[in-house]
Amino acid sequence: MPKTRFLPFFVLALCASLALAQTGPKRTVLVRVDNIKPDALLKHQFLFFDEYDSRSIVSMVRDTAFILVTPAELALLRERGVDCQTVLEDSSELTLIRRAVYGPTLRLEKPYHSYADILREAESLQKTFPTLVQRFQIGTTSRKNQPIYAIKVSKDVKTHDARPSILFNGCHHSNEVLGAEICIAALHELAEHYGKDPDITRWVDKFQIYFVPVLNVDGHDIVTSGQDPRWRKNVRDTDSNGVANYPDGIDLNRNYDFNWAHGGSHDPASGRYRGEFPFSESEPRALADLARQKRFVLSITYHSQGEVIYYPWNWGGRKAPDDSLLTEIARGLAGSIPTMGGDSSYKAEYGAGLVGQSYPWLYGRIGTFDFVVETGKGESIFPPHEVEGIVQANLKGIHYILRRAEGPGLAVHVVDAKTNAPLEATVWFPAIETEDLDRRTTHPETGILYRLLRPRSYSLVVSKPGYATVAFKNISVDENGWTRLVVSLKKSSHQ
Ligand SMILES: [Zn+2]
Repeated sequence: MPKTRFLPFFVLALCASLALAQTGPKRTVLVRVDNIKPDALLKHQFLFFDEYDSRSIVSMVRDTAFILVTPAELALLRERGVDCQTVLEDSSELTLIRRAVYGPTLRLEKPYHSYADILREAESLQKTFPTLVQRFQIGTTSRKNQPIYAIKVSKDVKTHDARPSILFNGCHHSNEVLGAEICIAALHELAEHYGKDPDITRWVDKFQIYFVPVLNVDGHDIVTSGQDPRWRKNVRDTDSNGVANYPDGIDLNRNYDFNWAHGGSHDPASGRYRGEFPFSESEPRALADLARQKRFVLSITYHSQGEVIYYPWNWGGRKAPDDSLLTEIARGLAGSIPTMGGDSSYKAEYGAGLVGQSYPWLYGRIGTFDFVVETGKGESIFPPHEVEGIVQANLKGIHYILRRAEGPGLAVHVVDAKTNAPLEATVWFPAIETEDLDRRTTHPETGILYRLLRPRSYSLVVSKPGYATVAFKNISVDENGWTRLVVSLKKSSHQ
């Protein structure tokens, strides 16, 4: 290309960037580009691809992109030989974005579920399998006071007992809708294949498996009803203008009280706005309360997108105290989920420790090994025909996690020496656990702590105020299953 033709392009690109920094250019054309890679698109310097604020590349799934451009930019793309089809011209940017993400009907079509659909399916499963499935409320949403539900799957589901608990949850970010779809598919699979598939039967017998398909119910309504596919945060009216308008809301996955101050943004307009104080929002409080009650051994928190697993943690260079086991499980989980291309699997990467997100909270505060699974590649909302493939791939990840919940590990059962009553006691592994973690305790109702460990010998200290502390050396963890250690604590003598 001759030099003289470069100059107008750069001048225009510069003007476009400057204009964007202030109010943004008026992008009135939605364009479809086929057979192109993101890198090739980003070479055109007025195009931006940001997970939290898609300003011009609205959707990029496989080799097809939907982009917003001005008529001048469209002319430039064509001049540079990019094969573009105009899909829609409209003065409303939101209309163009909705058309790009939702398709011609401007709403989420089947197989996607609205929250009402999800609740109906859970209800129907509960009716069909009353001893296996139970739906219950864990909290309410910040804006509309809507109930947030968990669904439990377990043999004798109404009995809350000492079996290990596992959690799968979706939609902290309401536009990352795949998490809900994976949870529903897994619910169906566990309930309907119980008694038929030996693995599933064993897991439902041995475990208490919990699903929270949608945490951000208010936001999920906005996305699934077709109002706004960009909606990520909850629906708190952060600009106090009396209406919920984009980008209102608080990033629920920056609102947890573990290293909250170091993560997210203090700017309410940011997609990562962490809120005024930790746990300001009722949605993460609901999930945290459930986690405190159930003491999950393992969990998956679904987000989109990237085909990557994030796990605890890289904390300013420090690794998690359980790093080698966490890394092994993260890699195993990643390797179990095929990518959309089918030629590879998800990848495992360290997540940040210094953020108010759910995975450092679950691991740091409760001891849950939590893995963020970023489902699919390209977008947070995928065209309907891509959904089934991503869901099926991720069911393999759920199977992997359930298999890992079978051990090896140590189940420490602490009781009062005299009454045999279960005790909530601190169980500390001095060779593993550092000050980065809260001390792990046994469950107050069962007296049990499940801790995944590699099969070898460990030292641990069991303590409770008012009781004599007990230290163990060389407790050996078996290669298979949960090794049980019963600890009887004696009341300390008072003067
Ligand atoms: Zn997310």
